[in-house]
Amino acid sequence: MKSRFIHALSQIVTGFLLASCGSFAAAQSAGQRPNILYIMSDDHAAHAISAYGGRLAQIAPTPNIDRLANEGALFENAFCTNSICSPSRACVLTGQYDHINGAFDLGGKVEPGKQMLAIQMGAAGYQTAMIGKWHLKSEPADFDYYCVLPGQGKYHSPEFRVRGDKPWGKNTIEFPGKHSTDAITDLTLEWLKQGRDPDKPFFLMHHYKAPHDYFDNASRYESYLADVAIPEPDTLWHRDALFGSMATRGADDELIPHIGTSIGSRNPRRSYLMDLPSMYPNEFPTGYDPADYSDQQNTRFAYNAYLKKYLRCVKGIDDNLGRLFKYLEDSGQLDNTLIVYTGDQGFMLGEHDYQDKRWMYEESQRMPFLVRYPATVPAGQRLDTIIENVDYGAMMLDFAGAEIPETVQGRSFRSLLESGKEPDDWKQEAYYRYWMHMAHHDNPGHVGIRTKTHKLIYYYGCNYDGGYQTPAGWELYDLQHDPHETRNLYDDPQHAELVADLKKRLAETRTRVGDDGSHYPECEAVLQEFWDYDAADQAKAREISHAFLKRRLAELKAGKRNIQTVHGE
Ligand code: CA
Repeated sequence: MKSRFIHALSQIVTGFLLASCGSFAAAQSAGQRPNILYIMSDDHAAHAISAYGGRLAQIAPTPNIDRLANEGALFENAFCTNSICSPSRACVLTGQYDHINGAFDLGGKVEPGKQMLAIQMGAAGYQTAMIGKWHLKSEPADFDYYCVLPGQGKYHSPEFRVRGDKPWGKNTIEFPGKHSTDAITDLTLEWLKQGRDPDKPFFLMHHYKAPHDYFDNASRYESYLADVAIPEPDTLWHRDALFGSMATRGADDELIPHIGTSIGSRNPRRSYLMDLPSMYPNEFPTGYDPADYSDQQNTRFAYNAYLKKYLRCVKGIDDNLGRLFKYLEDSGQLDNTLIVYTGDQGFMLGEHDYQDKRWMYEESQRMPFLVRYPATVPAGQRLDTIIENVDYGAMMLDFAGAEIPETVQGRSFRSLLESGKEPDDWKQEAYYRYWMHMAHHDNPGHVGIRTKTHKLIYYYGCNYDGGYQTPAGWELYDLQHDPHETRNLYDDPQHAELVADLKKRLAETRTRVGDDGSHYPECEAVLQEFWDYDAADQAKAREISHAFLKRRLAELKAGKRNIQTVHGE
């Protein structure tokens, strides 16, 4: 592996020589500027990090990630603007919302020349590298060095794409017998030891594939949590009659089985109960046959299999970060490196009997976000300022002393990190938009805002062309009194004024971020049609619910597995 690594490095060294003429000034000031290590795991939800507390904190601690919180800052209100892999990565890289950067869904890409963070860091005299999961299709050509998984990549014996003589995608290195989390950490350590230009600070994006589904931990973790009954969220069992809306329940609850893939048997098209027994037989009783057990027992088996495999992947990440932090510490670089830890979105870990991300519900919309840089960021801060993934790049560029270009919609929160004080004119709403209507996990298209205290979700329920409609519906949650989002208050007369205010703010936020409906006009027409949600709209939504149920039952009868498709598939 090493010789191929050095071959790949030779490409970078050529780059250094070409770039070095203009970089002496930058190199001289490198001592005052931090290295920046941006660590992002895939689908690692905040509530699976012990520093965030919650039901998993005691049984599955993450001490190395927690260290960043103890010695730096933890954000309680960090949000992705579209809870799905490629779109979130595109937001971070460009500093733009997806309707501007064009990565609406899993077909999203960011072309060379537009990989803003790498370009600006490079222009400011940083040595740039991207190692691990990329998932943005095009070559990460704006980085000095890259070594990235193709697409989702493999958990075991992963292959990576590097720069080389052949066209993009054809120059590869392999790690036979290694787990991807170990391999990605090895690659980063090799680059830090052998690939560095000592005259420049570095900007390194270190991205794990884990704990993306279908979860596959390194074999050494197979016994971890084996004898533990994983604590369950109340909402796995109890769906409050006030949870959800016409959009997620259908008229008279007729769509409950068909909206959102499930842990247990609720969704007849896709559930962990359907998928996991053959995938992880060790997690189920010998000779397991669901017919031998009650519905509740089967759900509990599937939930435990799901969470154990997921948390074993998380454990692999935390252990590997211990290895990475130790190297930085031993080599005297820990304290002059600004370290960020985040996930590309959150993840539903059985809450409301949902799996996957995509939802605007809290566990999916929220991102873990921790920053350690002891030189200027005070330790032990827990911040409630609303930040979005479009802001991350601006913050890092600010610390680097790099220029934040006009194209960036996000804003730096460096002063907040250093002072603990939220700027007076800081935004009070996080914007959310999920476009991949009913693809893969049966989530309707939706849009909304999240304030520090409330969440307004509008399921308009159609695809890009305004088709494949599911019933529209609105949901309002009071996060101070109902943090697990069990009671939709949209129809509660006592909240009518708040609903009106938040709707107005949603419209204003759409204007602020430039989501003006011009990208997909037929979709926008549906969104506008049900905006008021008066009696006529509700009656029409009921009709759409009935029609959708009929359609879905016919699809199930025909054995269709993945019904809606998205761009690029
Ligand atoms: Ca992801």
